[in-house]
Amino acid sequence: MNAIQLEAYIRDIPNFPKEGILFKDITPLLADPQAFGAVIDQMAAQYEGKGIDVIVAAEARGFIFAAPLALKLGVGFVPVRKPGKLPFDTHSFEYELEYGTDTLEIHIDGVSAGQNVLLVDDLLATGGTIKACANLVEKIGATVAGCCFLIELGFLDGAAKVAPHECFSLIKY
Ligand code: IMP
Repeated sequence: MNAIQLEAYIRDIPNFPKEGILFKDITPLLADPQAFGAVIDQMAAQYEGKGIDVIVAAEARGFIFAAPLALKLGVGFVPVRKPGKLPFDTHSFEYELEYGTDTLEIHIDGVSAGQNVLLVDDLLATGGTIKACANLVEKIGATVAGCCFLIELGFLDGAAKVAPHECFSLIKY
């Protein structure tokens, strides 16, 4: 069977959500079970046997890839959410945005100190979101084993911001 060209399932949307932004729309890929399945298979192949204990992802699009990947790797999935969304006690982490700050939360029993955590998101842009997740995980005393993305916008150099943690992506622009 020929390898699926994943790029063919990503749709460019000019000027969304703001003028001047070229948004990478992943919904055509999600709508195709062969392409979506190939993504999860390729992500799993990268991390099988690497001692991952748990997968952590931030809402909302990170969840889409994190949950099936966690099942495929046979590990748990722990959500990171915006403040006030998680029902149990949380750790929270405030991080800098271009203008102002934002906060992310995780349940206090979601990740334990010493665990090897794989961070997952749909897309790496500036690296701010995944860096905040990494800081949250490290604050708990767990280790970031890697950061996995469907798409990396290489020209924004997010991987440098996330270093020394390793970034892996299936599609690079
Ligand atoms: P960063 O924090 O700047 O790396 O932005 C990454 C976050 O923004 C991810 O959680 C993405 O879901 C979202 N994001 C930014 N640009 C895009 C895009 O073009 N398509 C889909 N999601 C995007």
